[in-house]
Amino acid sequence: MDQPQPLFDDHRDWLAHTLALNDKPCPQTTLTLPGGAQLQRLDTGLLGYWPPSGSGASGLILSAGIHGNETAPIELLNALVTELVQGQLQPRIPLLLILGNPPAMVAAKRFIEHNLNRLFSGAWKDYPDGYEPHRASQLEAACQEFARYCTEAGLPLRHYDLHTAIRASQREKFALYPFVEGRQVPREELDLLRRSGIGTVLLQHQRAGTFSGFSSETLRAESFTLELGKVRPFGENQLSALSRLRDTLVNLMEEHPFEESGEADLPELFQVVHEVIHTGPGFRFYVADDVANFTEFPPGTVIWNDAEREYRVGDLPEAVIFPNPNVPVGHRVALMIRKVSSGVAQTPC
Ligand SMILES: [Zn+2]
Repeated sequence: MDQPQPLFDDHRDWLAHTLALNDKPCPQTTLTLPGGAQLQRLDTGLLGYWPPSGSGASGLILSAGIHGNETAPIELLNALVTELVQGQLQPRIPLLLILGNPPAMVAAKRFIEHNLNRLFSGAWKDYPDGYEPHRASQLEAACQEFARYCTEAGLPLRHYDLHTAIRASQREKFALYPFVEGRQVPREELDLLRRSGIGTVLLQHQRAGTFSGFSSETLRAESFTLELGKVRPFGENQLSALSRLRDTLVNLMEEHPFEESGEADLPELFQVVHEVIHTGPGFRFYVADDVANFTEFPPGTVIWNDAEREYRVGDLPEAVIFPNPNVPVGHRVALMIRKVSSGVAQTPC
């Protein structure tokens, strides 16, 4: 936007305002948009949007920059906010919009002191001070308040936490579906992912301190962590690579009807079959350092061993995801995953 915007203290847009404030808070203020909707600045990098009449059929939380150097989704969210302020985007549903870690965004780093995406569901309480624990508690509170509004209005809640990956991936875009005992991915959610250009979903196998884990478990939202390609600095992203996601989000916000899609089009589901843990001296991990996520290994491949044990790929091919052998003893080195054969959502092991 070229005009200075009072909601953003005369900075050119939401992102510029957020970067300028860095780790400082800012007071609440509200902008009434031309159609009567309210755009509320709740704090630094935190906006609430309330449609002019009625409240639509769902509530949506969109977050980016939980890892500060994952810039493409930050730019996508900022562009949507610019369209909101200018009146080109006119959502019919309430929104909570979040730029997660402004100091890390300024520093062009994943995080400053603590990985923010491990501090949710109260994990921040284990860290007495520092920006990230404070931010995790603040984001939880903002989401809880938004969820309360949606519950009172009878609106189901969605949350997309947008990320980009450090590592190359055989499947450029994929979604992580947080583990909640006994649930399956609803067909409608798979359909939205497909429309967003995301052809792969990994069903997570245990609880985690991630943002989407928090919103799934505590707020009962349909939440996904979306991994949208590789990390690049601000200004070097091809936002066209995210155009299908953008269009889907706009449709969801403005409540345009979607057409039905065939079953064959839905994303492929993967489940975790084995968690590789660093077992101590003698532990050997046979996956190369630079291997891409979703690289597949044939049955019988030795993945790791130590003096007493070994792990081989079972009767069906397995793929590796998030490999990182440089972790302390007892920590996770990688996950071994396998396609869910029936194509129907199942509770992973
Ligand atoms: Zn990330």
